Amino acid sequence: MKERYQELINIINKLNYEYYTLDKPSVSDQEYDRYMQELIKIELEYPELIKDDSPTKRVGGKVLDEFKKVTHEIPMLSLGNVFNEDELIKFDERIKKEVPNPKYVCELKIDGLSVSLKYENGKLVRGATRGDGVVGEDITHNVITIKSIPLTLKENIDIEIRGEIFMSKDVFEKLNEEREKSGLELFQNPRNAAAGSIRQLDSKVAAKRNLDAFLYHLPNAKDYEIYNHYEALEYIKRLGLKINSNIKKVDNISEVIDYIGYWTEHRDELPYEIDGIVIKLDNLNDQEKLGYTAKYPKWATAYKFPATEVLTKLTNIIFTVGRTGQVTPNAVLEPVKVAGSTIRRATLHNEAYVIEKDLKIGDIVSIRKAGDVIPEVVEPIIERRTGEELEFKMTHNCPICNSQLHKKEDQADYFCLNSNCPARHIESLIHFVSRNAMNIDGLGDRIIEDFYNLGYIRSFTDIYKLDSKKEELMELEGFGEKSVTNLLEAIENSKDNSVERLLFALGIRQVGSKTAKMLSLHFGNLEALMNADFETLNNIKDIGGIIAKNIVDYFNNEENIKVIEELKFMGINTEYKGKRNIEITNELIFGKTFVLTGTLENYTRDEVKEILENLGGKVTGSVSKKTDVVIVGSDPGSKYDKARELNITIWDEQEFMNSVN
Ligand code: NAD
Repeated sequence: MKERYQELINIINKLNYEYYTLDKPSVSDQEYDRYMQELIKIELEYPELIKDDSPTKRVGGKVLDEFKKVTHEIPMLSLGNVFNEDELIKFDERIKKEVPNPKYVCELKIDGLSVSLKYENGKLVRGATRGDGVVGEDITHNVITIKSIPLTLKENIDIEIRGEIFMSKDVFEKLNEEREKSGLELFQNPRNAAAGSIRQLDSKVAAKRNLDAFLYHLPNAKDYEIYNHYEALEYIKRLGLKINSNIKKVDNISEVIDYIGYWTEHRDELPYEIDGIVIKLDNLNDQEKLGYTAKYPKWATAYKFPATEVLTKLTNIIFTVGRTGQVTPNAVLEPVKVAGSTIRRATLHNEAYVIEKDLKIGDIVSIRKAGDVIPEVVEPIIERRTGEELEFKMTHNCPICNSQLHKKEDQADYFCLNSNCPARHIESLIHFVSRNAMNIDGLGDRIIEDFYNLGYIRSFTDIYKLDSKKEELMELEGFGEKSVTNLLEAIENSKDNSVERLLFALGIRQVGSKTAKMLSLHFGNLEALMNADFETLNNIKDIGGIIAKNIVDYFNNEENIKVIEELKFMGINTEYKGKRNIEITNELIFGKTFVLTGTLENYTRDEVKEILENLGGKVTGSVSKKTDVVIVGSDPGSKYDKARELNITIWDEQEFMNSVN
């Protein structure tokens, strides 16, 4: 038991980090909740095992160093959970031990991330994330981009108000559509998209993302002579902030159950995601009587909606090859409707996952889908087995090119290593057009895959031949004259890219965008690099023997040379377009190492980086004794403190502008 206990702690800590700190969960919330429930159960049965740092005692995750830290005078806690009616009634019974006739306020549990807003003299002075509950991140620069959060209240008071920042379903869908077109990774759900947008250093990102906010908590209500939660909500509204219009005051737990029933039916009609219902004791004196645990108030709880689960038949397990060569088993299901969509496939991740779930072909399995999350095969229904089911066998050959798959000893995934595998071709095409490579807007992952399968793009050069297929493309589903014209224009524009983009786009092993830039700067054009021998390359600072060999090998391959010649013939630029004689132009920058912190008014981080690099400077991510200059914008993070501690030269935006002229 001790082992499982520790294993669960490790799993949950990892998931917390991915979810709260990176905004990139790897499992569904339901799966996370199952681990948490198992941990809670063990702690109840074996209290002697409980560790002080157990995730059951802690809120949220670690805050990112890039942000200025904010200490919450009153901790921002999480909420306890109930998952069914029985648990809800037990919650009510616990409350009734202290408060005989409890009145509750029911609210929708908005699936976003909590925020604390601080107003002084009626003016917004600070917005902060919950962080670990005590220390959060200062996100004022992003909060002020949210239109529904007023900068000035209707009363000139000092007050802290808390609520939830979220992204509506519409905005989320549009954002993901755009990201797909631009070949960017998709956000998994509106919650992660909201968190990923608000936890950005550059406020331009949040400003574009149309975030919204509902406010639902006044931590110091009594200071304003308010004694009920419902009154506090009305006061928040009077101050000019947005509260949710579906809040309801109820007299007893059976009305809470009705409210839950109603929203279980109608949640899909809301323009934003909710993942449950929050039930709060209305009277603030009663709330105080019940008090808090280290993690949540005892006077409130969150009823979490169950994910919709249905049964269907697992008719087959097939294998697909991803863009990295990774081979994944997929469940082929008898089509079934879950939460509004028809499910035919579900990923089974890898061999270990299928074995752990004990899935057999022909099994009746339960399928779960929650909100926008991808469907998940939960388990086989063992009682429904007939004996006819077939054992699952992991393939050892690539389903596309049939070559032998490889698996590293300590890893779960199998890979096809054949660089000529068509599946890998798709990967290299996706890389070629990606943002840091040729940067062709409009050729997202899926479009490349479709165009590959339709035979339009099989090689880099085919991309530049698409203009001859304009009419045909316009007839494809999802394409019109405008989108095809835009796409062809983006392709045409990419011909003028400075050569480092092309060099990176070619996908030479270990030549990342930084190395490509450095090599382009050094050689000035692709031809000079192609003529360089191993010795020459190996003598360049930062180019080791392995990279040098990869480059030489790449340009010794006739096929590669043919592609490059053809690209050149089609008008793709092979010259470096930045400044090369940088030694002469700016001594303040050349050879120096810079770190950026905070937000500049006139430049994005990428722009500053480009300017400095073009003048021979180097930009790194963290401050150390080797840093020469730290450039500080508004709302700087801890890097600023570190720079002062180490006595490093600090420039503000004006000094930066003067120095680069
Ligand atoms: P929570 O989301 O279960 O509940 C607390 C939060 O609800 C509050 O902090 C607040 O932000 C929010 N909330 C929304 N509407 C509210 C309202 N009307 N009143 C009060 N609060 C409201 O708790 P949590 O600690 O933020 O997160 C835990 C949950 O997050 C898990 O149960 C799981 O669903 C998810 N999670 C998932 C993963 C993963 O890997 N998938 C990892 C960590 C957490």
